Amino acid sequence: MENEHLIPVLKNKAKCKKCMSCVNACPVGAISYEEDDFQVNLDLCFEHVDNTRDKECFVCMMACPTSALVLEEYIPTQTS
Ligand code: SF4
Ligand code: SF4
Repeated sequence: MENEHLIPVLKNKAKCKKCMSCVNACPVGAISYEEDDFQVNLDLCFEHVDNTRDKECFVCMMACPTSALVLEEYIPTQTS
């Protein structure tokens, strides 16, 4: 659990107003949202988290006015 990372996930797409608050709030520009394609650059997000805080950064989640965006534990995909 020590190396646990939380990442932003567009959990409730129906609640998303496409206001771009999350995109604009992220201090490292890790979130992009074009058309219906919500993406998080995990390299940027993790780097920011690692460099500025011991664990997670809540900026994007706090910026979301509808709670459509939540932070969830990142579980790497096994590809072997
Ligand atoms: S957790 Fe922080 S660094 Fe990561 S996408 Fe959200 S605002 Fe950006
Ligand atoms: S801040 Fe919330 S409502 Fe606005 S675009 Fe991001 S996820 Fe959607």
